[in-house]
Amino acid sequence: MTPYRELSQEQLQAMKAELEVQFEEVKAKGLNLDMSRGKPSKQQLELAMDMLEELKSTDKLKCEAGIDCRNYGLLDGIPEARRLLGEMTEVPPENIIIFGNSSLNVMFDTISRSMTHGVCGSTPWCKLDKVKFLCPVPGYDRHFRITEYFGIEMINVPMTSEGPDMDMVEELVSTDPAIKGIWCVPKYSNPQGITYSTETVKRFARLKPAAEDFRIFWDNAYCIHHLYDDKQDFLLELLDECEKAGNPDMVYKFVSTSKVSFPGSGIAAVAASQRNLDDFRKHMSVQTIGHDKINQLRHVRFFGGIVGMHRHMKKHAEILRPKFEIVETTLENELQGAEIGTWTTPKGGYFISFESMDGCAKKIIAKAAEAGVKMTDAGATYPYGKDPHDSNIRIAPSFPTVEELKLATEIFVLSVKLVSVEKLLEEKTA
Ligand code: PMP
Repeated sequence: MTPYRELSQEQLQAMKAELEVQFEEVKAKGLNLDMSRGKPSKQQLELAMDMLEELKSTDKLKCEAGIDCRNYGLLDGIPEARRLLGEMTEVPPENIIIFGNSSLNVMFDTISRSMTHGVCGSTPWCKLDKVKFLCPVPGYDRHFRITEYFGIEMINVPMTSEGPDMDMVEELVSTDPAIKGIWCVPKYSNPQGITYSTETVKRFARLKPAAEDFRIFWDNAYCIHHLYDDKQDFLLELLDECEKAGNPDMVYKFVSTSKVSFPGSGIAAVAASQRNLDDFRKHMSVQTIGHDKINQLRHVRFFGGIVGMHRHMKKHAEILRPKFEIVETTLENELQGAEIGTWTTPKGGYFISFESMDGCAKKIIAKAAEAGVKMTDAGATYPYGKDPHDSNIRIAPSFPTVEELKLATEIFVLSVKLVSVEKLLEEKTA
């Protein structure tokens, strides 16, 4: 394919006219398709239905510790759930606390507690003139909304194919004591599907923060969410690396079964050093008498252990893989060589990230919406909703059916072409 930029004004005009006809045709179909959020499809949710059949009789409701899970007790979670989520995020069960149904909720509470009560006895962040967070971009919009909500200044750190730009992270973290944290999705990142390299993880573990209460918010949401059996990314385990580097307290690891069992009805956990976990407990023991142990037990009984959980994730992969491949193949067939966009081809997670020409993302998303395809809002992958290049678009292929996704991707591609051609024509006439 000839790069669009090399086409003459006349060729671009002709192409625009043709694309407009095609666009009007799909628009007339009055479609209503959603590629905006990373929600599992109904077919995926069906996979865990047998979980709801567990625990039907009284004698099944005792956990390993001999405690009746219907009653109060075991603030840290039942031992078998700590073991299961510990294995999921590769830490010993002693380093795990099980929380409620959402890891995002725990992240919010962690920031909230740091604001009001400080981290392990240090000055509460609300008493400081300035608190800053590093935000690898593009990143997860809901992380950014938490820090924005608390008035924490966010600093963009560009992502590379190996994770965040570590030269920049090291420089900023070691010189500015106002920087208290960094948001990371280290495996199959949201939205690019990038896994941090071993060197990146080691550099994280060896950081020398200017602030004693600096913490890495390591959101391991997609730790076991592979799309392929034979091609899987490897992520070095950070808690252990931090310990080895003499920084045992520098990381909080978050994990949940939201996209393993049921989003909103899964179980979430934090993995951290004993000092950090004690800090969490101080707050948690005031906040609650205990989380939902029945749900913890249900999860453990259904998966049986980490092997069963991996087996279950393969079933998810079988549903998700063709969807990712449809999007990738369509992008490749329609855009390869046109030089009007680039995209990632992740081996796991929930998203594909698309980079349009600068200044085109908002228009592409609006165009696709005009033809009935809902995408994640432009700018959402950046702090304050501001993408400085207006170029990043998050594609979430999980929710629509295969047929819907084919149509939605065709409409997306058409929108990309149309907006890019218009932009190139503008440039040529300027
Ligand atoms: N972290 C990331 C990176 C996510 O993509 C999501 C869900 N889309 C979450 C956290 C939310 O997880 P939970 O349901 O456990 O709150």
